[in-house]
Amino acid sequence: NWDKLIVVEQMTQETTKKTPAEVVDKARNAFMNGKSKNLKFREMQLKGLLNFLVDCNAKIEDALYKDLRKHRQESSSCEIEVVANDLRHTIFEFKKWAKPENPEKRLVNILDGVHIYNDPYGVVLIIGAWNYPILLTLGPLVGALAAGNSVILKPSELAPATAELLANTLTKFLDPECFQVILGGVEETTEILREKFDYIFFTGSTTVGKIVHQAAAKHLTPTTLELGGKSPVYIHESADMEKTARRVIWGRNLNSGQTCISPDYILCTKEVQERFLQQAKKVMLELYGSDPKESPYISKIVTERHFKRLLNFIKPDKVAIGGKFDALKRVISPTLLINVSPNDPVMCEEIFGPILPIINIKSPEEAISFINAREKPLALYVFTKDKTIKEMFLKNTSSGGVTINDTITHIITENLPFGGVGASGMGAYHGKRGFDTFTHKKAVLVKDFAPYTELALSLRYPPYSDTKTDI
Ligand code: NAD
Repeated sequence: NWDKLIVVEQMTQETTKKTPAEVVDKARNAFMNGKSKNLKFREMQLKGLLNFLVDCNAKIEDALYKDLRKHRQESSSCEIEVVANDLRHTIFEFKKWAKPENPEKRLVNILDGVHIYNDPYGVVLIIGAWNYPILLTLGPLVGALAAGNSVILKPSELAPATAELLANTLTKFLDPECFQVILGGVEETTEILREKFDYIFFTGSTTVGKIVHQAAAKHLTPTTLELGGKSPVYIHESADMEKTARRVIWGRNLNSGQTCISPDYILCTKEVQERFLQQAKKVMLELYGSDPKESPYISKIVTERHFKRLLNFIKPDKVAIGGKFDALKRVISPTLLINVSPNDPVMCEEIFGPILPIINIKSPEEAISFINAREKPLALYVFTKDKTIKEMFLKNTSSGGVTINDTITHIITENLPFGGVGASGMGAYHGKRGFDTFTHKKAVLVKDFAPYTELALSLRYPPYSDTKTDI
């Protein structure tokens, strides 16, 4: 129902209703008239985005608190500052990235110009998820604007305060033709996906990723799919158990486990499990106090549906730590489950909440087989002091990314591509890779009309002869 679609016009600051075709036409005209490609214009856009993050910092934090009860410090360090840092780096570097590249020439092209032009794709659709509603919409936007595209952004309807802020306020910082925000849920996204885009960047679940991929295939639109899945943690007996417990429990409970690269389950021996649980009890107290559901550092579960889904995973006889909840606040205390079987419901889908099951395995080889028997995860975490074990996991498993002896942090490490593989996604971004994601690498070969060039070319023209072939 397109009556619900809201597109905010910056210049007039009036809210006008447009059809999906009108939204895309506007973006395409802006791209075709060359506006978004201009380097100075791109710089202004990137600076506009940075100004939004700086000037509206408090408003953004308020919106994230409203949507997810996110602590200000977490909003700043895990969302706003991550995008701001990417922006500062991109503003400094993107003109260099945009220049044509001159790859090394082989003898056959010694007389030619051989170049790679960095062309923007055109009209880009970015569809975001609700769990990091700033990071996962504005993160890709940095690369898309730097590369010279015009962009249509669709934030998640499940983080409405942030979505409204992007539609009503961010639009005032950016060009109204080259940047538009559309609001809506499944129905509106389905409608907009019927239109032809030049690139689609989607962040969300694997199930919806497949829908987006199918819609894109109708127009042969290239896509980046940033999806989810179950990210395993392997804990080896050689690990420092106190630090392991702190790093795993922090990573699992950041945003109440509603993080795409959150540790989803632990693989370890029974002996390691006992040592881990001892430390985990202390760490829970240290990080979240004696009644974690009252802690200000615990985010709320995004919807009632997700809250009920998560409570179903908590079987009282399997709770080693936690298991408490506050239905009014939609908060669940950090929970560790033991005696879990690989067929239990909690192991059959991405948990996406503050619940962490432990599966007992007997050896690192068994852990590797366990991981490889399932879909390729977005992240893998290995805790060990033993270099052979580290190498074993790195060489014998496939995942979007890996962090050894920590969780989450590879996502904020500059110069590391972030993305999935297999069911956890395709494509990657951040920094220069974000720019490249939204850039078509156009092959350009330039010949001249000089006599010696024509002489060289004469070899390819009929009539053919052995003399020509031998040369
Ligand atoms: P989701 O797939 O339900 O929704 C994502 C977006 O798709 C939203 O904007 C939504 O409006 C739209 N959408 C939902 N259903 C649709 C449909 N049928 N047709 C068209 N569009 C539709 O995901 P979510 O609940 O917002 O996020 C949670 C999932 O996203 C988890 O699986 C998580 O692991 C994953 N995720 C991945 C990353 C990453 O960077 N790889 C980051 C965050 C979240």
